Formats: sequence, C-alpha cells, structure tokens
Amino acid sequence: MKIKAKLFLGIGLLFTMIVLLTAIGSIYINKLSADTKNILVANYNTLDYSRQMLIALNDDGFTNTSIAKFENNLQKQQHNITEPGEQQLTDQLTINFNKLKTNPADTTLLATVHSNLTDIMLLNMQAIERKSAVAKKTADDATLWIALAGTFCFLIAFVLLVNLPGNIANPVKELTESIKEIAAQNYSKRVHFEKNNEFGDLANAFNTMAQKLEEYKTSNIEKLMMEKKRIETLISNIKDPVIGLDAKKHILFMNDVALKITGLKAEDTIGKQIQDVAVNNDLIRSLIQDLFAATNETANTKHEPIKIYADNKESYFEKQVVPINITPTGEKEEKFIGNVILLQNITPFKELDFAKTNFIATVSHELKTPISSIKMSLQLLENEQIGNVNEEQKNLLGSIKDDANRLLKITGELLNMTQVESGHIQMAVAATDVNEIVNYAVNANKAAAEQKNIRLEVSVPAALPQVLADEEKTAWVLTNLISNAIRYSYDNAVVYISVKHDAGKFEFTVTDKGQGIPPQYKEKIFDRYFRVPGTKKEGTGLGLSISKEFIEAQGGTIYVESDFGAGSSFTIILNAFTV
Ligand code: ADP
Repeated sequence: MKIKAKLFLGIGLLFTMIVLLTAIGSIYINKLSADTKNILVANYNTLDYSRQMLIALNDDGFTNTSIAKFENNLQKQQHNITEPGEQQLTDQLTINFNKLKTNPADTTLLATVHSNLTDIMLLNMQAIERKSAVAKKTADDATLWIALAGTFCFLIAFVLLVNLPGNIANPVKELTESIKEIAAQNYSKRVHFEKNNEFGDLANAFNTMAQKLEEYKTSNIEKLMMEKKRIETLISNIKDPVIGLDAKKHILFMNDVALKITGLKAEDTIGKQIQDVAVNNDLIRSLIQDLFAATNETANTKHEPIKIYADNKESYFEKQVVPINITPTGEKEEKFIGNVILLQNITPFKELDFAKTNFIATVSHELKTPISSIKMSLQLLENEQIGNVNEEQKNLLGSIKDDANRLLKITGELLNMTQVESGHIQMAVAATDVNEIVNYAVNANKAAAEQKNIRLEVSVPAALPQVLADEEKTAWVLTNLISNAIRYSYDNAVVYISVKHDAGKFEFTVTDKGQGIPPQYKEKIFDRYFRVPGTKKEGTGLGLSISKEFIEAQGGTIYVESDFGAGSSFTIILNAFTV
C-alpha cells in the first residue's frame, strides 16, 4: 500500500473514530439529559404539586388561602399530564375537590381527595422508577459504546505509532546511506525496498540512476583509455623524436624514434627524472640544457641544428622545447603541466643546403679565373702602347671594367659565403697594423667614391698599437662597410672612417649621411641574403652577414646605429694585440 494511502487511512480512521466518539458521547449525554428532564418535568413536578395540595388540605380549617393554594397546584397538575391514567385520576380529583369545597365537613370526601392525590403520586413514583431504569440503561450503553470507540481509537493509534515512524524513517535512512556511497563513486550500490509504495518507486528511480552513473563511468574510462591509446599510437608513429615531460620533469613518454636516437630503452626512462637519465646520456643532456638554464628560454626558441650519428649515418635535428600550459576545467588561470621536446629531422634540407653551397663554391671559383683574365685584358687595352682607343671605346671599356669589378665582388662574396656556410673559415689572427687595414679599404673604394664625388674622411690617431686580427678578412669587412656607405649615400656627401683605441679594444667606425636603416631591420640586415625592402642599389644581401661571421670568428663584434633618414654608423670592435 502507498505511504500516502496508509497515512490517509490511518489518520483518517483515527479522525473518524474521534468524530464518532464525540458523536456517541454527545448523543448519549443528550439522551441522558432528555431522560432526566423527562423525569423532572413530568413526574417530579406532579409529586411537588400533589405534596402542595396535601399540605393545603391538611391546613387547619378549610380557609380561602388553602383552597386557593390547592386550586393553583391543581391547575398546574392539569397541565402536567404525562402518564397513562393520570388524566382520569386528575379529573376525579378535580370533581371530588369541587364537591369538598361545597361540603368541607364531609370527611369521606376528604378521604377520597386524599386517596386521589396518593394515587397520582404513586403513578408518578412508578413512572420515575421506570424512567430511572431507562436512564441507567442509557448511561450503561453510553459507557459501552464510548469504551468500544475509545479502544478502537487506541488500537489504531497504537498501530500507527508502532509502524509509521519505522515505515518512513527506515527507507530514508537506507537511501541516505546509498546516496553517500554514490557520492563516494561506488556506483554499484543499489537499494531494495520490497514494497509497492512510494519508497519502492524511489528505490527503482535510485537504482536506475546508479546504473546509469555506472555505465557513464565505465564508458568514460573506456573512452579515455581509447583516446590515450590513440594519442600514444600517434606519438609513436611520428617520424620525428618526441619526448614528453611533466611539470616536475619526469619523463612521461618517449616515442620509438626518440628511444632509437638516444639509444635508451622505454623501461629505463618512463617515469624517471630526466636529469637522472641525462647523467649517462650526452644527447639527453644537450637536449635539456635550456630546461635548466638560468634564463628561462621560451617555446619555439631556435637552436643550432644538433648532429646525431645513428643508424650508421649522420642526421641533423632542430630542437624545440615547447612548454605546455592548460586551463583546468572551471578555472581561469593557465597552469603549467610540463614540456614537450620536439626534434625535427632536417637532414634532407641540410643535404640540399650542402649541395647548394658546393655548387655556389664551384661556380664562383670557376668564374673567378675568366673574370680576372677579362680584367687583365682590359688593362692591356687601356695601355696606349698596345694601341689607341677613341673616346667612345674608352667609355665602353670603362663600363666593361665596372661590370667585371662587380662580378668579381659578387663571386668573392659568394666564395666567402660558402666558406662561412661550410664552416671552413680559415682565420689567420695575428698582430696587425691598423693603418694597413684602413688604407687597403679606403684605396679599394677610392674610385667608387670619386664616381659619386664623395669625400672619404679618414681619422686614425698616430702611434696606435697593433690590432689582433686577420688582416685580409678585416680589410675585406671594412672595404665592404665603406662600399655600402658610398653606395647608400647621396652624391657629393662625406663618409667618415675613424679608428679609436681604448682599454685594449679597437673601434673601427664607418659613418655616412645616407638614407639610414628603418629600426625594424637593424638586426635583420646581418642575415644572409637580406636586403631592406625597396633598396634599389645593386647587391646580394651577403656583405654584412659575411662581415658578421668574419668579425665574430675573430672574437670581435659588429653592430649598426642608424637614424632612419639621416644616416648610419657601422662599428667593428676588435681586441688590441698585447704581448
Ligand atoms: P648588399 O649591400 O649587397 O645588399 P649587405 O649585406 O651589405 O648587402 O647589406 C644588406 C642591406 O643593408 C642592404 O641591402 C641595405 O638595404 C642595407 N644597408 C647596408 N649598409 C647600409 C648603409 N650604409 N645605409 C643604408 N642601408 C644599408
């Protein structure tokens, strides 16, 4: 039975019984009061009237007052006839009294009136006795019925008291326990109320919910495992080495290629601290240098390619250390969860680069000889002893000479560049006279300066110590800087070449008042093949990058300061020679 119906029935029954009890009580009380009233009104009054009439009769002398008293009570009695036979007795009394009134001395008549009065009193006494018996029975019935209804009420209340609290509280308790189990993720918990009531429905609903949660949990774990497997397969199938680390630098995964190039085994690495693995592995040590560097290098920092000898061949890899940050569910702040070290195999590009460098080196080398012989032939042609050339021919020879010089410069730059790229720069650093370098560079640019009517203003202090430099390469760099200053200056300008010596350092500066360099390109101009966009002058974009390599290879530095639109100033810093 449903709890609602049970409560309804129990409390309803109790309520009905209370109503019934009240009704029975009030009915019997009414009945009793009616019975008493009956006795009072009907019989008691008659007895009272009769007594008053007897007193009036027994008064001394049959006076007018006693007659009036008798008549008054007789009148009342005439209106209080309730018992069968009482009317005739009252009528006889009235007749006999009237006779007695006319003949007061008649004692027989007086005795008859007395007898009439006692008969009426007897009749009413008997009636009182009868009615008392009826009232007693009513009281007994009332007691019985009230006792029965009360007992029934008590029984119902008792049954409710014993059963109802347990009936409601026990399932609630069991349900609370089960909910706690579910909250603790024990989704296999079920409740069993073998009752066909609201708790039965609640148990069914609860069990369905628990089953669904269980299904959801298992399906989610399965899904997660599937996703994990998929990602693991994906990582192990990546052709490039990948190493994953957690926030505390434990190795989370290393794909097959990473294991292969490091010569490690999965069981010796996974879950281990990467520093511990690095102790016995040079490659891992070089890979994690940035992770432990004081300056925290950020993601995607470019590094020099790493050369690794594996599988009987040399391979080149570019390293990237990517920090992984996630925003956990429900949070706003990003959280660092680890790093991924990616090694991109750039061996095919490196091979192509080698091939390109070799090709350029061969071509430039092969071009150098014919260009030199063209220059030699031009010198012979300019010699008047060989023969006279007219003005037009002279001009033509001049432009052939310019082109040959330009070609020679380009092939020279390309050759230098191939040396730099292949890492074969041969440096002959030695104590060198500063003037030698400056004079060489200024003389090499004299003709070009004259062509644009540019004055080269050289300022070199007297009695300078020697500089520690590769004379040829440094002269080449200075020549290149002066050549740039001339090319990027306006006609009739001045180019300043100065040398300073201070605190064991030499500072060579070439300053021009040309167009200057836009600030965003100040660093880029030292990159290979880079030219400021919109540069109209001829050039390869190689001069400054080779200069930087040559100077840095000698332990020096080169930089530019430029006021865009007002000119540039290139500075080389080299060490002074000390004994
Ligand atoms: P190139 O001069 O052959 O183009 P460089 O490597 O010598 O190559 O120079 C790279 C670029 O830097 C040039 O293309 C030019 O845009 C810019 N540059 C170099 N020197 C100067 C200078 N003195 N004034 C203005 N721009 C310059």
